[in-house]
Amino acid sequence: MKLLEDAILTRGRVKDGDVLKVDAFLNHQMDVPLINEIGKEFYRLYQGQGVNKILTIEASGIGIACITAQHFGVPVVFAKKTQSRNIDGPVYTSKVTSFTHQREYDVIVSQSFLGPEDRVLLIDDFLAKGSALLGLIELVRQSGATIVGAGICIEKGFDVGGKLVRDSGVHVESLAIIRELHDGKVIFAD
Ligand code: 5GP
Repeated sequence: MKLLEDAILTRGRVKDGDVLKVDAFLNHQMDVPLINEIGKEFYRLYQGQGVNKILTIEASGIGIACITAQHFGVPVVFAKKTQSRNIDGPVYTSKVTSFTHQREYDVIVSQSFLGPEDRVLLIDDFLAKGSALLGLIELVRQSGATIVGAGICIEKGFDVGGKLVRDSGVHVESLAIIRELHDGKVIFAD
């Protein structure tokens, strides 16, 4: 998606070799018109497939998921990161390793908000090692819902996550795929 690639090139920053900072427009300060175009594009890619719920993970995915959900006219559920199971009633639970914080935590979704009747679109800002997305996939698997696919804003094409998730049978659409982060420069896949 040209608009997102342009934002990455002009407003993104490469840090510490393989970390791309996009906090000027995507996951700290949020460029709502840009994210609205992202939501529209996810809708174009996944419309007509019976999506009735969007699932993401806190915190960075939530805003993107909400704007996307307005195009689909469906609710958003976000997986909560938690150390305690401090939520009413039974939950689905899986483990995620944080790329940014280098630690493992539980993520949970209440069983009230996901079940076998649901057709789920997964949304997240980044796909790198795949831990966050695989954690969401595990929650959906426990619920008996169907995964329609995943919509990712930025995929690090040089990392393992994209292959892991696609090999697990989940359809992934990434709006910007980075082939290389090199000397502070971003090079996109063709
Ligand atoms: P994964 O679980 O696929 O390794 O990483 C996905 C999560 O890590 C995303 O939800 C995102 O928040 C974070 N992440 C991974 N790589 C980057 C990066 O280069 N920059 C930023 N800002 N976040 C990243």
